[in-house]
Amino acid sequence: MDKKDKERFKKILLQKKEEIISKIVEFDSESKEIEPEVAQDLADRADNTYTKEFLLSLSTQERKQLKLIDQALIRIEKCTYGKCEMCGEKISKKRLEAIPWTPYCVRCQEKAEERTEPEPL
Ligand SMILES: [Zn+2]
Repeated sequence: MDKKDKERFKKILLQKKEEIISKIVEFDSESKEIEPEVAQDLADRADNTYTKEFLLSLSTQERKQLKLIDQALIRIEKCTYGKCEMCGEKISKKRLEAIPWTPYCVRCQEKAEERTEPEPL
């Protein structure tokens, strides 16, 4: 993956992250004003209770996605983005365009889905 692609996917991922985080801001706006930057910062340090409350207000799906996005951003920094976390094969660009935060290639994703138990809520 060249630098241009990397930058492009990074942008898409950051946009998606902001989209999810903006829901945290919405959630908070009833109690007090919060800047998007602050929300971003809070989400980045998700170890405090305050943030956890916000994150809990998101659906399981959104929280899962936020985590996957963060992991994908780390992979971009480490230059391992675009490689399957399970088998190490390249993930097709078509797949990355559709799901930029995916850690797995199609084959491994299918295998993982077969194995995965329904998540307890
Ligand atoms: Zn794979």
